Amino acid sequence: MGQHTSGTHHHGYVEDTPLNQAMPAHERLSRLDAVEILHTPDEVAQWLASTLRAAMGKSEEEVAFEDEWDQWVKYAHSGETITTGLLRGPTISAVAVPEAECRCASTPLVPVGGKKRSR
Ligand SMILES: [Zn+2]
Repeated sequence: MGQHTSGTHHHGYVEDTPLNQAMPAHERLSRLDAVEILHTPDEVAQWLASTLRAAMGKSEEEVAFEDEWDQWVKYAHSGETITTGLLRGPTISAVAVPEAECRCASTPLVPVGGKKRSR
Protein backbone atom coordinates (compact mmCIF):
# COMPACT_ATOMS: atom_id res chain seq x y z
CA MET A 1 0.00 0.00 0.00
CA GLY A 2 1.02 3.58 -0.57
CA GLN A 3 3.62 2.92 -3.22
CA HIS A 4 4.02 5.16 -6.22
CA THR A 5 3.06 4.06 -9.67
CA SER A 6 6.12 2.11 -10.70
CA GLY A 7 9.14 4.14 -11.69
CA THR A 8 7.94 7.49 -10.43
CA HIS A 9 8.77 9.33 -7.28
CA HIS A 10 8.64 12.95 -6.18
CA HIS A 11 11.21 15.60 -5.45
CA GLY A 12 10.35 18.27 -2.93
CA TYR A 13 11.30 21.86 -3.79
CA VAL A 14 10.88 25.07 -1.84
CA GLU A 15 11.20 28.35 -3.73
CA ASP A 16 11.30 31.64 -1.94
CA THR A 17 8.94 33.26 -4.46
CA PRO A 18 5.17 33.74 -4.78
CA LEU A 19 3.26 31.02 -6.58
CA ASN A 20 2.63 33.14 -9.70
CA GLN A 21 6.33 33.85 -10.11
CA ALA A 22 7.61 30.36 -9.50
CA MET A 23 9.41 28.53 -12.27
CA PRO A 24 7.76 25.71 -14.25
CA ALA A 25 8.05 22.28 -12.67
CA HIS A 26 10.34 20.87 -15.32
CA GLU A 27 12.78 23.75 -14.79
CA ARG A 28 12.96 23.04 -11.11
CA LEU A 29 14.21 19.55 -11.89
CA SER A 30 17.25 20.81 -13.74
CA ARG A 31 17.84 24.07 -11.90
CA LEU A 32 17.15 23.39 -8.27
CA ASP A 33 18.37 20.84 -5.78
CA ALA A 34 15.60 18.85 -4.21
CA VAL A 35 15.33 19.49 -0.50
CA GLU A 36 13.62 16.16 -0.05
CA ILE A 37 13.27 12.91 -2.01
CA LEU A 38 9.78 11.48 -1.53
CA HIS A 39 9.22 7.83 -2.27
CA THR A 40 5.59 7.26 -1.33
CA PRO A 41 2.38 9.32 -1.64
CA ASP A 42 2.21 9.43 2.15
CA GLU A 43 5.68 10.91 2.31
CA VAL A 44 4.64 13.50 -0.26
CA ALA A 45 1.59 14.55 1.76
CA GLN A 46 3.54 14.55 5.00
CA TRP A 47 6.30 16.69 3.55
CA LEU A 48 3.87 19.18 1.95
CA ALA A 49 1.94 19.52 5.20
CA SER A 50 4.96 20.01 7.43
CA THR A 51 6.66 22.39 4.98
CA LEU A 52 3.50 24.48 4.60
CA ARG A 53 3.04 24.57 8.37
CA ALA A 54 6.60 25.72 8.85
CA ALA A 55 6.10 28.46 6.25
CA MET A 56 2.90 29.59 7.98
CA GLY A 57 4.42 29.36 11.41
CA LYS A 58 1.57 27.14 12.57
CA SER A 59 1.48 23.95 14.54
CA GLU A 60 -0.08 20.62 13.62
CA GLU A 61 -3.00 21.36 15.96
CA GLU A 62 -3.70 24.64 14.20
CA VAL A 63 -3.65 23.36 10.62
CA ALA A 64 -4.29 19.70 9.90
CA PHE A 65 -4.67 19.96 6.09
CA GLU A 66 -7.22 17.16 6.24
CA ASP A 67 -8.91 17.92 2.89
CA GLU A 68 -5.65 18.73 1.16
CA TRP A 69 -4.01 15.59 2.49
CA ASP A 70 -6.38 13.29 0.61
CA GLN A 71 -5.89 15.27 -2.58
CA TRP A 72 -2.12 15.23 -2.22
CA VAL A 73 -2.02 11.47 -1.69
CA LYS A 74 -4.30 10.96 -4.68
CA TYR A 75 -2.24 13.17 -6.99
CA ALA A 76 1.04 11.72 -5.78
CA HIS A 77 -0.28 8.22 -6.30
CA SER A 78 -1.11 8.95 -9.92
CA GLY A 79 2.33 10.44 -10.43
CA GLU A 80 1.26 14.06 -10.74
CA THR A 81 3.21 17.12 -9.73
CA ILE A 82 1.74 19.01 -6.80
CA THR A 83 2.35 22.71 -6.33
CA THR A 84 1.15 24.65 -3.35
CA GLY A 85 2.41 27.47 -1.17
CA LEU A 86 1.52 30.81 0.28
CA LEU A 87 0.29 33.85 -1.65
CA ARG A 88 3.49 35.79 -1.04
CA GLY A 89 5.71 32.75 -1.01
CA PRO A 90 7.28 30.39 -0.53
CA THR A 91 6.17 28.12 -3.34
CA ILE A 92 6.27 24.49 -2.28
CA SER A 93 6.16 21.73 -4.85
CA ALA A 94 6.43 18.00 -5.08
CA VAL A 95 7.52 17.33 -8.65
CA ALA A 96 6.82 13.91 -10.15
CA VAL A 97 10.05 12.44 -11.51
CA PRO A 98 10.25 9.42 -13.80
CA GLU A 99 13.09 7.20 -12.65
CA ALA A 100 14.87 7.71 -15.99
CA GLU A 101 15.05 11.49 -15.54
CA CYS A 102 16.18 11.37 -11.97
CA ARG A 103 19.62 12.48 -10.97
CA CYS A 104 19.21 11.20 -7.45
CA ALA A 105 18.84 7.62 -8.70
CA SER A 106 22.56 7.05 -8.48
CA THR A 107 22.49 7.78 -4.78
CA PRO A 108 19.46 5.89 -3.51
CA LEU A 109 18.33 6.89 -0.05
CA VAL A 110 16.52 3.66 0.59
CA PRO A 111 17.89 0.20 -0.18
CA VAL A 112 16.67 -0.98 -3.57
CA GLY A 113 14.11 -3.72 -3.16
CA GLY A 114 14.33 -3.38 0.58
CA LYS A 115 11.37 -3.00 2.85
CA LYS A 116 11.05 0.35 4.46
CA ARG A 117 11.25 0.38 8.20
CA SER A 118 8.12 1.65 9.84
CA ARG A 119 8.52 4.54 12.17
ZN1 LIG B 1 14.83 11.39 -7.66
